[in-house]
Amino acid sequence: MSGNITFTMIKPKAVAKGYMGKIIDQIIAGGFKIKALKYTKLTKQEAEQFYAIHKERPFYQGLTDFMSSGPIIAAVLEKENAVEAYRNFIGATNPEAAAEGTIRKLYGTNIEANAVHGSDSDENAVIESNFYFSTREWNY
Ligand code: UDP
Ligand code: MG
Repeated sequence: MSGNITFTMIKPKAVAKGYMGKIIDQIIAGGFKIKALKYTKLTKQEAEQFYAIHKERPFYQGLTDFMSSGPIIAAVLEKENAVEAYRNFIGATNPEAAAEGTIRKLYGTNIEANAVHGSDSDENAVIESNFYFSTREWNY
């Protein structure tokens, strides 16, 4: 299982703009299988915990304010080589630099509100999935 899953969020701005259906359609069309899915909202403290790896970065306060500003979608996705495949699929962190047709290019507003999150390693995919879901909800 590990190595074949990644974790994603649809970020508050993309949810607020009504893009969640289009983004989920694109994820499925891209060959990613949804293993778990949740519509919810983070507190500031939860956003800080989720992004704790970035706490020394200058964008940490703004990012965690933003990520707790409205509802998000959390999902666990399955595909061969899911972490790398999904990061290539969503495009570069900055939507302006993202390839044409990627989710971040199509639905991102700026480098902070870049439409979606994607895990950066197999290990973090498991940690992030377990942040939102019990193991039995995605690992089946
Ligand atoms: N971010 C930001 N400013 C930056 C870099 C990143 O606001 O200069 C935000 C952006 O929302 C990004 C998140 O912080 O998705 C995590 O940054 P990371 O470098 O891990 O990028 P990612 O893995 O999401 O492409
Ligand atoms: Mg990252």
